[in-house]
Amino acid sequence: MITDRVSDYLEKIEKSDVNAFIDVNGEKVLKEAEELEKNDALKNKPLYGKIVAVKSNINVKGYKISCASKTLEKYVGTYDATVVKKLRSQGALIVGMTNMDEFAGGSSGETSCYGPTKNPAAMDRIPGGSSSGSAAAVAADLCDMAIGSDTGGSIRNPASHCGIVGFKPSYGVVSRQGLCDLAMSFDQIGPLTKNAEDALVLTNAIKGIDRSDSTSLETPKFEKKDISNYKIGVVKEFMDVTDEKIRNEIEKGIEVFKDMGCKIVDLSYKYIDLALPTYYLINYVEFFSATRKYDGRRYGEFIEEACGEEVLRRILIGKHISEQEFSGKYYKKALQARKSMKKEMLGLFNSADLIVGPTVPKLPHKLGEDVSPMEMYAYDVLTVPTNICGICSGVVRCGNIQGVPVGLQIQGAPLEDEKVLSAMIEFEKNY
Ligand code: GLN
Repeated sequence: MITDRVSDYLEKIEKSDVNAFIDVNGEKVLKEAEELEKNDALKNKPLYGKIVAVKSNINVKGYKISCASKTLEKYVGTYDATVVKKLRSQGALIVGMTNMDEFAGGSSGETSCYGPTKNPAAMDRIPGGSSSGSAAAVAADLCDMAIGSDTGGSIRNPASHCGIVGFKPSYGVVSRQGLCDLAMSFDQIGPLTKNAEDALVLTNAIKGIDRSDSTSLETPKFEKKDISNYKIGVVKEFMDVTDEKIRNEIEKGIEVFKDMGCKIVDLSYKYIDLALPTYYLINYVEFFSATRKYDGRRYGEFIEEACGEEVLRRILIGKHISEQEFSGKYYKKALQARKSMKKEMLGLFNSADLIVGPTVPKLPHKLGEDVSPMEMYAYDVLTVPTNICGICSGVVRCGNIQGVPVGLQIQGAPLEDEKVLSAMIEFEKNY
């Protein structure tokens, strides 16, 4: 019975000390489960009875869409985002809203106004971020699957640290309608799941053109493909910036592709040093613009007065850069860098079907450890190029270091999501 499964998860959520959820309404979801059991029309849908957790920056009617910020603490969603409508129409149930870094700007899961999330795979460490609660909820088995958002790694980074699967679709594959923007030219919604098959099913369920998001596109259903004749690119610079212990695990992962029959090709990406400055500059400017609506009139608090340190940093720098823009010094340069980075990246896919490598260059730090903003940003060096270049990328578990999970990142050319998802499934089977 679906209602029994819902009750089991609700009980587990109640008992859990991971702090993965920040808004749960047991009565509401149990009622929805009862109705679902009576609804024969949904019985054959791919997500029938699946219990899904949603990140707190995606609108779900009747739940607190706080973005884990005091700014929006009193805001209750008045509608379902397009992805949520799609989930429901495929027979899924929403079990609650997950914890996250405030406004999705973070890599550790520590900047939420509801307190940090713990990493279920290594309880004294950060789970990664910003979709910290969605990853932790999946890793701690508090739901069947979860939805997150990824602007510069926020699905893939916590998936890697928590030892689960995460997928960032190509820009435009999934509608962003109903997602609170961090940086809208990078943001994508995507799945966090217990295995790669589920990531394929969930991506197929939420993708598609949406007339309320003009950047969304239609793509044919993603199917499993044979990958044994694929050329797998390994980028030297991605390996070079990575901690040696992580690199060793990833090298074992690359051997798995070899054993499957794939050809390994050595590649070089000369713009790795541009990744963080380009990403953060654009992020600050777009985020500053996105936050102008939080002026206290409609949603409660004036953001600059209510937000935490990292959010304020981004607003102030974003404001400064926007004001200086007439001189074309910063933002224009970042857009030029973005163009060069994309061109170079797309060129790599002439020599390889996919690029395989590490997800995060270092192991997750201990919860509460003092980490400078620059050290925090350094977690993102391998994930932001995907968003800067509009390509797609997935993460699957690839070993561990003294119990701390390591995630292998598989990147694909724009709209080749099917290839990445197929490689994730095959890797998982053969690892
Ligand atoms: N850590 C990156 C940032 O802080 C990525 C965040 C995200 O993908 N939402 O911007």
